[in-house]
Amino acid sequence: MARIVMKFGGTSVADIDRIHNVARHVKRETDAGHEVAVVVSAMSGKTNELVGWVQSMARTAGSGTPFYDAREYDAIVASGEQVTSGLLAIALQSMGVDARSWQGWQIPVHTDNAHGAARILDIDGSEIVRRMGTGQVAVVAGFQGIGPDNRVATLGRGGSDTSAVAVAAAVKADRCDIYTDVDGVYTTDPRIEPRARRLPKISFEEMLEMASLGAKVLQVRSVELAMVHKVRTFVRSSFDDPDAPGMGDFENPPGTLICDEDEIVEQQVVTGIAYAKDEAQISLRRVADRPGVSAGIFGPLAEANINVDMIVQNISEDGSRTDMTFTVPSGDLDKALAVLAKVRDTVGFDVVQSEAGLVKVSVIGIGMRSHAGVAATAFKALAEKGINIRAITTSEIKISILIDGPYAELAVRTLHSVYGLDKQ
Ligand code: ASP
Ligand code: MG
Repeated sequence: MARIVMKFGGTSVADIDRIHNVARHVKRETDAGHEVAVVVSAMSGKTNELVGWVQSMARTAGSGTPFYDAREYDAIVASGEQVTSGLLAIALQSMGVDARSWQGWQIPVHTDNAHGAARILDIDGSEIVRRMGTGQVAVVAGFQGIGPDNRVATLGRGGSDTSAVAVAAAVKADRCDIYTDVDGVYTTDPRIEPRARRLPKISFEEMLEMASLGAKVLQVRSVELAMVHKVRTFVRSSFDDPDAPGMGDFENPPGTLICDEDEIVEQQVVTGIAYAKDEAQISLRRVADRPGVSAGIFGPLAEANINVDMIVQNISEDGSRTDMTFTVPSGDLDKALAVLAKVRDTVGFDVVQSEAGLVKVSVIGIGMRSHAGVAATAFKALAEKGINIRAITTSEIKISILIDGPYAELAVRTLHSVYGLDKQ
């Protein structure tokens, strides 16, 4: 017998039939004797609809600027999860499974005061644990908690993944199963490379890189939390027949396990290829080469909430001037250029060149730590396809390469095959 947290995303609870199907997944686990807590999202599209209502109400009431109170935003958007938690509890009860819904405040899930993007501070899992011990399933509304102001607070879009991992940590679950509309984590995006393979296991660190780079299976914060608390997190499909053979296999269910690297016996050098679209490159020429210059450039960009990613600085030719290149999201390019225009005279640089519509392709694998030549392999493979590299950054477990947008798919496929990730 084990303790499992099962999380179901919006597409998995999109309508009454699907909620029934979710209940069958839950019943399978309780029938097997496991203690279960479930975390649910809102029905797919619901949160968007609620956010839309908030915005149009603010626009109608005010002077055309969609300003609204973040506490009321939370009161409204948290309601989607309240509905699905109640519906699932009813579905379970009708199947003879003892179940009870829980809103964030009832558990309670304590958060900070950052309404709309709150962080979980702690969860008191004792009452849920006690009830699970009596065979009752706790159906927890994801995405929400209660702030120090005693008001409902939501965790930011996609936040019910984080709720699930946090609940799993709080009740010391043996596993946190994230049921979604894909059946696991792949070596790359299967829409670009049909030969992509589902990974049986991936380490927390690698998954963090994949998620940060746009593999949208999990909210990035949930992966951070899983890594910190070592929550074995399992990504699997809710669309599989709940009672198909192997679905309830505790040791080897179908999907991808995100776990500590020590648990991964057969380590590959490269685990996956990720990509992030819509990057923009900004190059500053003849930047004064003296202390404080980087702070003078990147400080104001950070204050403007612009997320700077790759930063490359050249050695200066004459000891007084250097070149600097960095990337920002394409959508922030104009804002970034405006910020730079303001600091240009005080910091001192000459020409700004910029280009949007670029793509960052990344090679990820913890095996890189102990293998040489991984980067060289990528560069050679891309060169053979005539793909020009604009910038490169590396970390211990990642090589990121900035290229022109139209080459994105070719680059992903090329790298996927050169590291032997293609399906046999
Ligand atoms: N329903 C929320 C959203 O759409 C939270 C979640 O689904 O994870 O962002
Ligand atoms: Mg989600």
